[in-house]
Amino acid sequence: MAQISAEGWAIQAAGFDPLCERGVEAALSIENGRFGVRAALEEGSTASNPLMIVAGIYVEIAGPAGQTLLTLPDAAAFELAVDGDEIDIQRVQTIEHVRTLDMHAGELRRAWTFEDSAGRRWRRASTRAASAAEPRLYLHRVVLALDHGATASLDLQFEAEAPGDAPAAGERVTNARIAIVGAVSARTRVSRSFSGPWKLASESAAAVVDAGEQVAIESVTSVASGAPPDAGSFEREHQRHRDAWRARWDDAAITIGGHEDLNRAVRFATYHLLAAGSECDGRWSIGARNLSGEGYHGHVFWDTETFMLPALMLTRPAAARSALMYRHRTLPAARERSRRLGCEGALFAWESTDTGEDQTPRMDTRPDGTTIPILTGEQEHHIAGDVPYAVMQYWRATGDDAFMREAGAEIVFECARFWNSRVTPSVHEHEILTVIGPDEFHESVDNDAYTNAIARWTLEAAVALARADETAGDAMRALAVLPREVDEWEATASTMKRSRFVGDEVVPQFDGFLELKDAPVASYRDARVPIDLALGLAEMQHLRAVKQADVLMSAALLPDIWSERGARVNYAFYEPRTAHTSSLSPPIHALIASWLRERDDTIRYLEQTAAIDLGDNFAGASSGVHIGSLGGLWQAVVFGLAGLKFDADGIAFDPFLPPPISELALSFVWRGRHVDARIADDVRVRIDGEATVRVNREQRRVSGDAAFAYDPTMTYWSGTEGALA
Ligand code: BGC
Repeated sequence: MAQISAEGWAIQAAGFDPLCERGVEAALSIENGRFGVRAALEEGSTASNPLMIVAGIYVEIAGPAGQTLLTLPDAAAFELAVDGDEIDIQRVQTIEHVRTLDMHAGELRRAWTFEDSAGRRWRRASTRAASAAEPRLYLHRVVLALDHGATASLDLQFEAEAPGDAPAAGERVTNARIAIVGAVSARTRVSRSFSGPWKLASESAAAVVDAGEQVAIESVTSVASGAPPDAGSFEREHQRHRDAWRARWDDAAITIGGHEDLNRAVRFATYHLLAAGSECDGRWSIGARNLSGEGYHGHVFWDTETFMLPALMLTRPAAARSALMYRHRTLPAARERSRRLGCEGALFAWESTDTGEDQTPRMDTRPDGTTIPILTGEQEHHIAGDVPYAVMQYWRATGDDAFMREAGAEIVFECARFWNSRVTPSVHEHEILTVIGPDEFHESVDNDAYTNAIARWTLEAAVALARADETAGDAMRALAVLPREVDEWEATASTMKRSRFVGDEVVPQFDGFLELKDAPVASYRDARVPIDLALGLAEMQHLRAVKQADVLMSAALLPDIWSERGARVNYAFYEPRTAHTSSLSPPIHALIASWLRERDDTIRYLEQTAAIDLGDNFAGASSGVHIGSLGGLWQAVVFGLAGLKFDADGIAFDPFLPPPISELALSFVWRGRHVDARIADDVRVRIDGEATVRVNREQRRVSGDAAFAYDPTMTYWSGTEGALA
């Protein structure tokens, strides 16, 4: 595990190891939802991948990847020469080097003590932040102190150069610019120049320093496609940034007692989720590696709605709303996509960028050099259930009727129309043929359990919305939704094959799944080569081996359509057959294991999720943090360990604290009310305002502080069958 400070708010990377460098850069990256900056060394190294990644600006690149999120030169680039010698970590004698991500302040600090070739000892400290108060500002300060040694002359250079191929970036970004709008230095000469279509800034300074003196360079850089915002001094902007992060954490902090690694990991997850959120009114959404790396080219998947947004709904609801508005903005492309399949309504892109046209690559080159076709763009349709699910969950969490009127109801109805036309009627049932479920090992399958369940749920949600709620009136009129159509949705939903699991038998993941052969999944779990690569995708079609939670995914989102016994039987069947070659899978297993009170599996899967980016010296994070998996970790803790549920009237907890976890404290916002909860020997709740609160079977109206006893032997399902009251 990564090294983390005693207070549990800092993640540190000590020393410099080229092999781990790219993972460090992503894990310790800073971001404000509008742009992200990797924690690269400011002077660069042979291992560095220093990037500033800007949200929502996609460029066409040659090759199968489709549109790719734009990367800009690293505005943090800072070069230093002492008496004409360039200083870089691979050349000088380093005495100490530590980078610290201060998650509470939302900033990256670097402390580096080194000796130059003349034997002088220097201390260099820097601070970088992507402003949380004004998302167009990037803040950077470097302080250089000569501890001992003879007088030295310094050349310092902030450089933000356009990479060779950047202008190919396309017209949409011609206005983007980086300008240094403020700089301070001591005894220095400063010169500035701006160049290129990007108006990139380069700023240099020269200084003479004696032993015991220091030079500070502070920059406030504007990253704006338009006029730069008014910016104050570094000090002032830095303070505003820190204040903004403090306010964020007030509504989002989680503390896990008794398991320090998990405590830091869940804060790490919350930090990246809060940082990735943006109030951009739907202009963009969050890609599968946020803005911390180039993985998945910045494409937006179901990861956003199903894994990341629950955390944002309950901590930064305005950011969750904005991400959902992005889907609303892409409805025209989603309608067109559905129409091309011969269906009605809207089917969102499996991999989405700015317009919402599908950008899923058609081919993939595997590590062994072979190429395989990718069918997910054609067949992975459950996104048409994942997005409306998030819409309804957001509405329940916030009570934001205006959003439902403006956008939410339209999304739900259009997705219901898609499913109603996507189904194939058979004798007594409706089927969904030729899909890929979350388990992408199996292609072109019929009646995938997760897809059918979320499709049915979408149809039912649309029926309830159309019949019972006046917030949907405008959308119904605009889309000409008539009662006859709503009746049809209801009939389709009630006869959807494989969409409720209240029995206690093993549910086939799709038609014919149970007749396939078992595979040695467990022996590949820690192998260097994953099972699908070792055996080949063609062979996987014949095996009972699952890439990631699929049947269990429906239990995670829709516990009410499961009996506890059914969930237990299916967990026992599917867990050993799941390879977890998607990082989205372990947190879902942690969640279900916690609901079933499987102590060892809960801890094991929580730890496994926590290690995805933080373990092994951050090796897993090199192409960007697994922000979907981090959202899953947040859910496993909040919906799993705390057992949080909510509806329009109140909130409920069905907690489970498996040893060694002894305590769990969390803050969140429900319907505009700030809530603090602390679960240990009892459950203590504080609410700003009034709400109904249930803990296991005890339910009360609460205003301000309240304490509840709870029964650790009760399972998630045994309390109330999923309902709040
Ligand atoms: C997973 C998908 C996920 C995508 C992006 C794939 O490996 O199977 O479920 O959406 O990665 O994270």
